[in-house]
Amino acid sequence: MPAAVPVPPATPAEEWEFLEWNVLKPSRSSSVCITCQHFRYEVGRHCVTLLTCPIHQGLIPQGEHLTKRCSQWVARQEVVTGWCPEGG
Ligand code: SF4
Repeated sequence: MPAAVPVPPATPAEEWEFLEWNVLKPSRSSSVCITCQHFRYEVGRHCVTLLTCPIHQGLIPQGEHLTKRCSQWVARQEVVTGWCPEGG
């Protein structure tokens, strides 16, 4: 199955809803949202950090990015190929 590719969002991340309660599952490994290729964060209008997932186009609740993931988790590219694969 090909990897999921994010599509440009129709609305700003600040207007996204939080992920549905059953999307994220607890993980006992380092495979959690913060180590996922798709994980993003930004600062909203009110200087609040937003944790976002462009695959689901939803907000990740604070703290859950450290302990949970979904079935579409993908290792960050720099971990797979290194920071400078062309220099190897
Ligand atoms: S693990 Fe799933 S929910 Fe978390 S950032 Fe990756 S794709 Fe999004």
